[in-house]
Amino acid sequence: MVERLTKKGYIRSDHVKKALLAVPREKFVNQAASRAYSDKPLPIGFGQTVSAPHMVAVILEELELRGGAKVLEVGTGSGYHAAVTCKALEILGGGEVYTIEIDERLYRIAQRNFVRIGLTSIHAYLGDGFNGLPDLSPFDRIYVTAATPEKPEPLYAQLAPGGILIFPFGPQNQIQQLIKVKKTDDKFIEERLLEVAFVPLKRKGERGQPL
Ligand code: SAM
Repeated sequence: MVERLTKKGYIRSDHVKKALLAVPREKFVNQAASRAYSDKPLPIGFGQTVSAPHMVAVILEELELRGGAKVLEVGTGSGYHAAVTCKALEILGGGEVYTIEIDERLYRIAQRNFVRIGLTSIHAYLGDGFNGLPDLSPFDRIYVTAATPEKPEPLYAQLAPGGILIFPFGPQNQIQQLIKVKKTDDKFIEERLLEVAFVPLKRKGERGQPL
Protein backbone atom coordinates (compact mmCIF):
# COMPACT_ATOMS: atom_id res chain seq x y z
CA MET A 1 0.00 0.00 0.00
CA VAL A 2 2.77 2.44 0.93
CA GLU A 3 4.54 1.74 -2.39
CA ARG A 4 1.30 2.41 -4.27
CA LEU A 5 0.75 5.69 -2.41
CA THR A 6 4.35 6.70 -3.18
CA LYS A 7 3.98 5.88 -6.90
CA LYS A 8 0.76 7.90 -7.03
CA GLY A 9 2.57 10.90 -5.48
CA TYR A 10 0.60 11.01 -2.21
CA ILE A 11 3.74 10.16 -0.23
CA ARG A 12 6.63 12.50 -1.01
CA SER A 13 8.75 12.45 2.17
CA ASP A 14 10.75 9.84 3.95
CA HIS A 15 9.22 10.59 7.36
CA VAL A 16 5.66 10.15 6.03
CA LYS A 17 6.59 6.89 4.31
CA LYS A 18 8.35 5.47 7.37
CA ALA A 19 5.53 6.55 9.70
CA LEU A 20 2.87 4.85 7.55
CA LEU A 21 5.01 1.70 7.44
CA ALA A 22 5.48 1.78 11.22
CA VAL A 23 1.83 1.97 12.30
CA PRO A 24 -0.25 -1.24 11.91
CA ARG A 25 -3.59 0.03 10.53
CA GLU A 26 -5.24 -3.36 11.16
CA LYS A 27 -4.95 -2.73 14.92
CA PHE A 28 -7.24 0.32 14.58
CA VAL A 29 -9.98 -1.21 12.43
CA ASN A 30 -10.92 -4.40 14.24
CA GLN A 31 -14.04 -5.23 12.27
CA ALA A 32 -12.41 -4.48 8.93
CA ALA A 33 -8.90 -5.76 9.62
CA SER A 34 -8.83 -7.82 6.41
CA ARG A 35 -9.26 -4.58 4.42
CA ALA A 36 -6.76 -2.56 6.48
CA TYR A 37 -4.37 -2.14 3.54
CA SER A 38 -6.88 -1.05 0.94
CA ASP A 39 -6.76 2.68 0.27
CA LYS A 40 -10.29 3.23 1.55
CA PRO A 41 -11.95 4.82 4.58
CA LEU A 42 -13.01 2.00 6.95
CA PRO A 43 -15.63 1.79 9.71
CA ILE A 44 -14.41 2.32 13.27
CA GLY A 45 -17.82 2.09 14.96
CA PHE A 46 -20.45 4.59 16.10
CA GLY A 47 -21.06 5.79 12.52
CA GLN A 48 -17.47 6.99 12.08
CA THR A 49 -14.66 6.02 9.73
CA VAL A 50 -10.89 6.16 9.68
CA SER A 51 -9.71 8.19 6.68
CA ALA A 52 -8.24 6.46 3.65
CA PRO A 53 -4.44 6.11 3.90
CA HIS A 54 -3.89 8.49 0.94
CA MET A 55 -5.78 11.21 2.86
CA VAL A 56 -3.64 10.62 5.95
CA ALA A 57 -0.56 10.94 3.70
CA VAL A 58 -1.83 14.12 1.99
CA ILE A 59 -2.55 15.82 5.33
CA LEU A 60 0.81 14.77 6.78
CA GLU A 61 2.71 16.02 3.72
CA GLU A 62 0.83 19.33 3.68
CA LEU A 63 1.49 19.84 7.41
CA GLU A 64 5.21 20.24 6.54
CA LEU A 65 6.16 18.71 9.91
CA ARG A 66 9.43 19.66 11.59
CA GLY A 67 11.11 17.99 14.57
CA GLY A 68 9.98 19.52 17.87
CA ALA A 69 6.57 20.58 16.50
CA LYS A 70 3.52 20.72 18.77
CA VAL A 71 0.59 19.29 16.80
CA LEU A 72 -3.14 19.27 17.53
CA GLU A 73 -5.49 16.80 15.82
CA VAL A 74 -9.24 17.42 15.98
CA GLY A 75 -11.18 14.13 15.63
CA THR A 76 -9.20 11.29 17.23
CA GLY A 77 -11.52 8.50 16.00
CA SER A 78 -9.62 5.22 16.18
CA GLY A 79 -6.34 7.01 16.91
CA TYR A 80 -4.69 5.78 13.69
CA HIS A 81 -3.96 9.18 12.16
CA ALA A 82 -2.62 10.55 15.47
CA ALA A 83 -0.37 7.49 15.78
CA VAL A 84 1.05 8.05 12.28
CA THR A 85 1.62 11.74 13.08
CA CYS A 86 3.35 10.78 16.33
CA LYS A 87 5.64 8.32 14.49
CA ALA A 88 6.43 10.93 11.82
CA LEU A 89 7.49 13.38 14.55
CA GLU A 90 9.60 10.71 16.26
CA ILE A 91 11.41 10.13 12.96
CA LEU A 92 11.99 13.89 12.64
CA GLY A 93 13.51 14.05 16.13
CA GLY A 94 10.53 14.43 18.43
CA GLY A 95 7.54 16.65 19.06
CA GLU A 96 4.16 16.45 20.74
CA VAL A 97 0.78 15.24 19.54
CA TYR A 98 -2.45 16.41 21.17
CA THR A 99 -5.73 14.99 19.93
CA ILE A 100 -9.34 15.73 20.87
CA GLU A 101 -12.43 13.58 20.28
CA ILE A 102 -16.06 14.49 20.92
CA ASP A 103 -17.41 10.92 21.31
CA GLU A 104 -16.41 9.39 24.63
CA ARG A 105 -16.68 5.82 23.27
CA LEU A 106 -14.17 6.54 20.51
CA TYR A 107 -11.99 8.51 22.92
CA ARG A 108 -11.72 5.36 25.08
CA ILE A 109 -11.13 3.03 22.12
CA ALA A 110 -8.33 5.28 20.84
CA GLN A 111 -6.71 5.29 24.28
CA ARG A 112 -6.73 1.48 24.22
CA ASN A 113 -5.33 1.43 20.68
CA PHE A 114 -2.45 3.72 21.66
CA VAL A 115 -1.56 1.38 24.52
CA ARG A 116 -1.88 -1.70 22.26
CA ILE A 117 0.76 -0.37 19.87
CA GLY A 118 2.93 1.05 22.64
CA LEU A 119 2.41 4.74 21.86
CA THR A 120 1.65 6.30 25.21
CA SER A 121 3.03 9.77 24.58
CA ILE A 122 -0.04 11.08 22.70
CA HIS A 123 -2.09 13.54 24.77
CA ALA A 124 -5.75 12.58 24.25
CA TYR A 125 -8.65 14.86 25.25
CA LEU A 126 -12.42 14.53 25.26
CA GLY A 127 -14.51 17.48 24.06
CA ASP A 128 -15.58 19.67 21.14
CA GLY A 129 -12.46 20.15 19.07
CA PHE A 130 -13.99 23.09 17.16
CA ASN A 131 -12.87 25.08 20.19
CA GLY A 132 -9.39 23.55 20.12
CA LEU A 133 -7.45 23.40 23.37
CA PRO A 134 -6.96 27.09 24.20
CA ASP A 135 -5.15 26.47 27.49
CA LEU A 136 -2.52 24.41 25.68
CA SER A 137 -2.12 26.68 22.65
CA PRO A 138 -0.34 27.82 20.59
CA PHE A 139 0.17 24.85 18.27
CA ASP A 140 2.64 24.71 15.38
CA ARG A 141 0.33 22.51 13.38
CA ILE A 142 -3.40 21.77 13.63
CA TYR A 143 -5.44 19.41 11.46
CA VAL A 144 -9.12 18.54 11.53
CA THR A 145 -10.46 15.15 10.41
CA ALA A 146 -14.15 16.06 10.09
CA ALA A 147 -15.75 18.70 7.85
CA THR A 148 -17.04 22.00 9.13
CA PRO A 149 -19.40 24.33 7.24
CA GLU A 150 -18.01 27.32 9.17
CA LYS A 151 -14.42 28.40 9.50
CA PRO A 152 -12.97 27.18 12.82
CA GLU A 153 -11.97 30.62 14.10
CA PRO A 154 -10.78 29.26 17.51
CA LEU A 155 -8.27 27.05 15.68
CA TYR A 156 -6.96 29.98 13.63
CA ALA A 157 -6.45 31.80 16.94
CA GLN A 158 -4.52 28.87 18.43
CA LEU A 159 -1.90 28.71 15.64
CA ALA A 160 1.65 29.73 16.46
CA PRO A 161 3.37 32.21 14.11
CA GLY A 162 4.55 30.23 11.09
CA GLY A 163 1.93 27.60 11.95
CA ILE A 164 -0.21 25.55 9.55
CA LEU A 165 -3.87 24.59 9.91
CA ILE A 166 -5.59 22.04 7.63
CA PHE A 167 -9.33 21.39 7.67
CA PRO A 168 -12.09 20.06 5.41
CA PHE A 169 -14.47 22.96 4.74
CA GLY A 170 -18.04 22.50 3.60
CA PRO A 171 -21.45 21.04 4.41
CA GLN A 172 -22.32 17.42 5.09
CA ASN A 173 -23.03 15.17 2.07
CA GLN A 174 -21.65 17.71 -0.38
CA ILE A 175 -18.22 18.18 -1.90
CA GLN A 176 -15.92 19.83 0.60
CA GLN A 177 -12.56 21.57 0.11
CA LEU A 178 -9.45 20.68 2.05
CA ILE A 179 -8.14 24.08 3.17
CA LYS A 180 -4.58 24.85 4.20
CA VAL A 181 -3.95 27.99 6.23
CA LYS A 182 -0.46 29.36 6.89
CA LYS A 183 -0.06 31.93 9.63
CA THR A 184 2.56 34.59 8.96
CA ASP A 185 3.45 37.29 11.51
CA ASP A 186 0.44 39.41 10.62
CA LYS A 187 -1.92 37.42 8.41
CA PHE A 188 -3.37 34.08 7.37
CA ILE A 189 -2.74 32.80 3.85
CA GLU A 190 -5.35 30.30 2.70
CA GLU A 191 -5.09 27.74 -0.08
CA ARG A 192 -7.59 25.16 -1.40
CA LEU A 193 -5.80 21.84 -1.73
CA LEU A 194 -8.37 19.41 -3.14
CA GLU A 195 -11.97 18.24 -3.04
CA VAL A 196 -12.72 15.80 -0.22
CA ALA A 197 -15.61 13.96 1.49
CA PHE A 198 -15.30 13.87 5.28
CA VAL A 199 -17.83 13.04 8.00
CA PRO A 200 -19.29 16.18 9.63
CA LEU A 201 -17.71 17.92 12.61
CA LYS A 202 -20.23 17.74 15.46
CA ARG A 203 -20.70 20.57 17.92
CA LYS A 204 -21.17 20.40 21.69
CA GLY A 205 -19.88 23.74 22.84
CA GLU A 206 -17.84 22.29 25.67
CA ARG A 207 -14.14 22.60 26.32
CA GLY A 208 -11.83 19.60 26.17
CA GLN A 209 -11.00 17.96 29.48
CA PRO A 210 -8.35 15.34 30.05
CA LEU A 211 -9.81 12.30 31.82
N1 SAM B 1 -8.54 10.58 12.69
C1 SAM B 1 -9.44 9.48 12.89
C2 SAM B 1 -8.76 8.14 12.83
O1 SAM B 1 -7.55 8.08 12.60
O2 SAM B 1 -9.47 7.13 13.06
C3 SAM B 1 -10.63 9.48 11.98
C4 SAM B 1 -11.50 10.60 12.18
S1 SAM B 1 -13.16 10.43 11.67
C5 SAM B 1 -13.01 10.75 9.95
C6 SAM B 1 -13.76 11.94 12.40
C7 SAM B 1 -13.76 11.95 13.90
O3 SAM B 1 -14.06 13.26 14.36
C8 SAM B 1 -14.79 11.02 14.53
O4 SAM B 1 -14.19 10.20 15.47
C9 SAM B 1 -15.76 11.99 15.20
O5 SAM B 1 -16.37 11.47 16.37
C10 SAM B 1 -14.84 13.14 15.51
N2 SAM B 1 -15.51 14.44 15.73
C11 SAM B 1 -16.60 14.92 15.13
N3 SAM B 1 -16.86 16.16 15.57
C12 SAM B 1 -15.91 16.45 16.49
C13 SAM B 1 -15.64 17.58 17.30
N4 SAM B 1 -16.41 18.68 17.28
N5 SAM B 1 -14.57 17.54 18.11
C14 SAM B 1 -13.77 16.44 18.17
N6 SAM B 1 -13.99 15.34 17.43
C15 SAM B 1 -15.03 15.35 16.59
